[in-house]
Amino acid sequence: MKLLFERSVNGRQLDLISELSVKEYKLDSKLLRNSKLRLPEMSEVDLSRHYTEFAKQTHGVNDGFYPLGSCTMKYNPRIDEEVASFEKFTQIHPLQPLETIQGCMEVIKKAEELLCEITGMNAMSFQPAAGAHGEYLGLLLIRKYHQERNDHERINIIVPDSAHGTNPASATMAGFNVINVASNENGGVDLDELKKVVGKDTAGLMLTNPNTLGLFDPNILEITKIIHEAGGLCYYDGANMNAIMGRVRPGDMGFDCIHLNLHKTFSTPHGGGGPGSGPVGCKDFLKEYLPMHMVDEKEGKYVFKNPSNSIGQVRSYYGNFLVVIKALTYILSLGKQGLRNASEKAVLNANYMAHRLKESYTLPYDSTCMHEFVLSLEDLKKQTGVSAMDIAKASLDYGIHPPTMYFPLIVHEALMFEPAETESRQAIDEAVDIYLELYKKAFEDPEYLHSAPHNCLIGRPDETSAARNPILKYEFND
Ligand SMILES: *Cc1c(COP(=O)(O)O)cnc(C)c1O
Repeated sequence: MKLLFERSVNGRQLDLISELSVKEYKLDSKLLRNSKLRLPEMSEVDLSRHYTEFAKQTHGVNDGFYPLGSCTMKYNPRIDEEVASFEKFTQIHPLQPLETIQGCMEVIKKAEELLCEITGMNAMSFQPAAGAHGEYLGLLLIRKYHQERNDHERINIIVPDSAHGTNPASATMAGFNVINVASNENGGVDLDELKKVVGKDTAGLMLTNPNTLGLFDPNILEITKIIHEAGGLCYYDGANMNAIMGRVRPGDMGFDCIHLNLHKTFSTPHGGGGPGSGPVGCKDFLKEYLPMHMVDEKEGKYVFKNPSNSIGQVRSYYGNFLVVIKALTYILSLGKQGLRNASEKAVLNANYMAHRLKESYTLPYDSTCMHEFVLSLEDLKKQTGVSAMDIAKASLDYGIHPPTMYFPLIVHEALMFEPAETESRQAIDEAVDIYLELYKKAFEDPEYLHSAPHNCLIGRPDETSAARNPILKYEFND
């Protein structure tokens, strides 16, 4: 496919930008460019076709099934986008007088209240732009807590081996050592192993529950108690709230602070390339450490307030506000019962799909799952040579987005499926039939699967080179 620069024709134009409505301002000549900015020159129809061609090459939830585990690629109601596009939300400036943005401030306050109610927290900051960013902030709160108590020995963060890769990375960035703790045979935290690693040097624990195997840890109260008794704090990775909204709250499980991925559970797609939001919630005793610019109510008016002992700022102003609007619209339009139902159906869909797939595939942790489950294709690979990658790639030919591959690391040849609540039984049955057919094909014609996909524009790019040597800049020949 040609790039914009390759389609450019000297002198061809389009008029997308309207006439200036403000007076022209002459910049000082030393601030001006020496040469003309080299932009592609093309007509509006050429530009429109270019982006449509791109759009056809992607796979979104409107194109087909998208069971990408831990990303919650559910269908998000259009009304949420519509509300977020209201001019009174989009045409504002972060520094305009407070009396002109009282409604926007109310949105933040209301979202804080409702998300605190859903998670069992007391306060929430919307500054972090994504999940990993939220983890980082949460860990800064934990660090501050120990520093304020002059407890400088606490340098370790305990992370189970089933954790999302961002957990150890964030802990390291926040200046902690990472201590891994093994999972038990049921996929939960091994309590004996946990007891062995806690001590005076424990700053805290980072845990995902349900974890990345899609399993809810039945020992959760015991786990958080062990950490608290050792003097540490408990951090909840709440990227995946889809199974538990309105059912169980991290605050009641014993967690002190959490982050959420609004761009998973709360109506913004994950990995869509657009902005995300990873708000951090905490219990009362941590709330004075939260970042600046919290919304507060004073004499019937909304004001911004800086917590008394704030860690500072992790991002400009108030975070990605439009994502917060979508989340609030989602929560208010579903209501309490609607959120409970969404979680119930997400869990039902995952269990139904797992139950059907395990007729053929291996389900290594075979118990009731939450929003997702993980298959192991290790047996299939031993018998046929067909790998998790081969099956995932082959599903592309059927218009299915691959599940998450080779994660979590404790399952070999892993495929992680999250159907989400918005798929019908028919859609799940159709997908399962395809996966079962591919399983049979692995025995009959493994070569066909090794070279899949056969009908996609791009088959198997060299992922290592793509990650290590990305081409991010267009090189002009002339
Ligand atoms: C997605 C995810 C994250 C990271 O979220 P980003 O917004 O991609 O940074 C962290 N933990 C878990 C369990 C996740 O699924």
